[in-house]
Amino acid sequence: MAKDKIQAIKGMADMLPEDTPYWDKFTQAVVEAAQEYGYMQIRTPILEQTRLFKRGIGEVTDIVEKEMYSFVDSLNGDELTMRPENTASVVRACIEHNLLYDAPRRLWYMGPMFRHERPQRGRLRQFHQFGLEALGFKGPDVDAEQLLLVKRVWDKLGIKNVWLELNCLGQFAERQVYRETLIKYFEAHKEILDEEAQRRLYTNPLRILDTKNPAMQELVENAPKLMDSLGEESKAFLKRLTDILEAEGIDYRINPRLVRGLDYYNLTVFEWVTDKLGAQSTVCGGGRYDPLIGMLGGKETPACGFAMGIERIIELMKEEGIAPSYKECSVYVAWSGEDSFLFALRTAEALRNKQISTILHSGSAKFANQMKRANASGADFAVIIGESETQEKMVSIKPLRENLKDYGQQLKMTVEQAVEYLAEQTR
Ligand code: ATP
Ligand code: MG
Repeated sequence: MAKDKIQAIKGMADMLPEDTPYWDKFTQAVVEAAQEYGYMQIRTPILEQTRLFKRGIGEVTDIVEKEMYSFVDSLNGDELTMRPENTASVVRACIEHNLLYDAPRRLWYMGPMFRHERPQRGRLRQFHQFGLEALGFKGPDVDAEQLLLVKRVWDKLGIKNVWLELNCLGQFAERQVYRETLIKYFEAHKEILDEEAQRRLYTNPLRILDTKNPAMQELVENAPKLMDSLGEESKAFLKRLTDILEAEGIDYRINPRLVRGLDYYNLTVFEWVTDKLGAQSTVCGGGRYDPLIGMLGGKETPACGFAMGIERIIELMKEEGIAPSYKECSVYVAWSGEDSFLFALRTAEALRNKQISTILHSGSAKFANQMKRANASGADFAVIIGESETQEKMVSIKPLRENLKDYGQQLKMTVEQAVEYLAEQTR
C-alpha cells in the first residue's frame, strides 16, 4: 500500500540548492551594503508575545486582524505569535537591553517572517526579509542614507527595473484632520466601496487609498490628498529629503496614495516597486516611525527603517536574467584504480587545507562519467588521478571553463605544485 507522502505546509517554500546562488548573491550584496554604512546585525527570536505586535503594528492593520500565526502555548498558556515583521521585535530588544541609552544605533536583520495570507505569486506564508533600522535619528539625512543604501543594493545585484515611490504621512494630528476629510469623501460615495473598504472606512480609512480593486481606482484617484492637510514643518521635512535625493541622483516619484500597511509610520514613507512581478510589485518598503519606541514603553526616540522581501527580489533577479553561477566546488577530483584512492584523497585534503572547495569523486565510474559529474558540479578544474599518475606521484589538471588560462590543455605536476597552481587560479 502506498504511504501518504508528507508535504510542506501551504505557502511555506523549500529553498532548493539550485536557488542557493541567488540567496548567496543577495546576502553578500546586502551585508556588504550594511557594512559600508556602519549598520550592525541584530537577531531576535521568531516567537514573541502576541501583545508586542498588537501594540506595535496596531490592532486594525491587516496583519494583526487576520494574518498572524498566533497560538496559546499548551505548556504554559502564554499567548505567542510567530513574528510577522521584525521592527517591533528590534524595538523591543533595544528597550529591553537599553541599547539606545547613550548613542543612536544603526541595525540590520535578515530572516523568516510569517503571515497567514492567501498564497500566490510573490506572497508566501513564510517569507524572508532583510531590513534596516536606524534608531535615535531625527532625519531626514538618515532617511536619505537608507534610500542610498537600497539603491546601492540594486546596483550590486545588477537590478534595473525598480523605482522609488515616496510620500509624507505628516504627524498624527495632521493625519487625524485628513482622516475626517477622507471619511466624509468616502461616505459620499459609499455605493462604490467594496466590502474591504467598507470595513476599513472607520478603522483605517487611509488604507482604502491603497486598494488594488479596479472598480475603485477612479474614486481613490480623485480623493482629497493627504499632502494638502500637512503643515509647513512636515512639508519642509519632505523637501529636505527630496533635495538630498536629487543632489545624489536618486530618481523618485511622489505617490500621494502611498500609506503603507502598518500603524506606526509618520513623515517619510516609501516603497521600491517594479513592473516585472505582476500584482506583487513592492520589493522594499519602509519609512519613519518616530512614535513606535514610545508606544512600546521606551523613551520617545525618532527612528526609520525598511524591509525588503527577499523572495520577490530573487524572482526579479531571474526576470532580469541575472544568473549567479551554480557551483558545488572549485575543483573536482576524478580518480580510478584501487591503489589511487588514498593518493586522490590526500590530494583533495591538501587542496581543502588551502580553503579550495574540493569534491572527491565517490564510488567507481568511468573517467568520462566522472568528467560529466565534474562539469555539472560547476567546478573550474578537474584533477585527474589514474594509475599512471599514482605510480609517478603526479596529478593531471584539466581547466574546465573557456575563460581559464590553460583551457584546452592537460597539465601534469606534483601535488605541491598543483595545490599552488590551483590556489592561484581559483583565487
Ligand atoms: P504587500 O502590500 O505586498 O502585502 P506589505 O505592506 O504587507 O506588502 P511590509 O510589511 O512592508 O509589506 O513588508 C515589506 C516587504 O516584504 C514587502 O514589500 C514585500 O516585498 C515583502 N512581503 C510582505 N509580505 C510578503 C509575503 N506574504 N510574501 C512574500 N513577501 C512579502
Ligand atoms: Mg501585506
